[in-house]
Amino acid sequence: MIREELQKKIRTVEPYVPGEQPKEKVIKLNTNENPYPPSPAVRKTLAALDADDFRLYPDPAAGELVEAIAEIYHVGTDQVFPGVGSDDVLSLCFLTFFNSDRPVLFPDITYSFYKVWAQLYRIPYECPALDEGFRIVKEDYYRENGGIIFPNPNAPTGIYEDLDFLEDILSHNRDSIVIIDEAYVDFAGRSAVELLGRYDNLIVTQTFSKSRSMAGMRIGYAISSPELIRCLNNVKYSFNSYTMSRAALACGAAGVRDRGYFEDHVRKIIRTRKRTEEELRGMGFITTSSSANFLFVRHPQHEGRELFEKLRSEKICVRHWDDDRICQYLRITVGTDEEMDLLIGTLRRYV
Ligand code: PMP
Repeated sequence: MIREELQKKIRTVEPYVPGEQPKEKVIKLNTNENPYPPSPAVRKTLAALDADDFRLYPDPAAGELVEAIAEIYHVGTDQVFPGVGSDDVLSLCFLTFFNSDRPVLFPDITYSFYKVWAQLYRIPYECPALDEGFRIVKEDYYRENGGIIFPNPNAPTGIYEDLDFLEDILSHNRDSIVIIDEAYVDFAGRSAVELLGRYDNLIVTQTFSKSRSMAGMRIGYAISSPELIRCLNNVKYSFNSYTMSRAALACGAAGVRDRGYFEDHVRKIIRTRKRTEEELRGMGFITTSSSANFLFVRHPQHEGRELFEKLRSEKICVRHWDDDRICQYLRITVGTDEEMDLLIGTLRRYV
């Protein structure tokens, strides 16, 4: 036990709980990783790295990775900010842009890390409720606030809102920073990057962890105006200059340039998602209309926790939360077709 007098001086926070990374062999459908390997260009780049390369610090500006990302999004290199996964980028965004005594707004059901960063940095926040169908109610965001953030598609519902919806929120909040977390957008539709020219209050974040199969390499990025990217860099250089390893810079740049491989595999996951969703609906599951690389499902005759535990006992890991509004649901990552067949077979026997 830490003595009370010491405890008073320590910053404490209730941490984010990441999904389980099991040690034994399981069918892993619980943390939205990609079931396919990264582009062969990544393997080749990794093989060409020499351990002696690691003697020196990496480029603090992450130039080669920034250039590769800027190229595919047709933006300037001064509009890209890379980090150690989008968690790192989002955390720095909270620190940099949410600096007001007004509450930051994000939905009640969303990526649970937002609440943790708000608490860690002592940023006031409020969480407008999603509607009955788990949709964001845009009018809830038409009021004074210290900033806005939500994922599109939202997590864990998978529901994607189109660019008109985002524009309504952006145009009602010209004096607030609006962050659109596009961790899953490649499986869904158009990116808000298209809107950057029209809204100087917009920041878009994306990740290599899902559609680009590189969760283990830890690469994420923000795209915004040069002015806002400069603010992010000022905070980053006041925190940790060398965030990206040499391996991440080289492999990330190689991976992002292989457009064909990326597009083929995204299409494949979308096909598997649609087929799995149809099969589950056929068994009586109720699903949200997910546009991500996961499904969010419940069965009217079975408790969420019961299904979660049943699958876990069959060595199939999915995600379940005990929160009141979503405790009946499972979030199931879209794996390979073979993995989905095993999941479907197991559930069919059970329900
Ligand atoms: N945003 C959302 C909505 C996510 O689900 C995740 C994955 N946990 C992240 C951001 C962070 O992903 P990463 O740090 O791997 O880029």
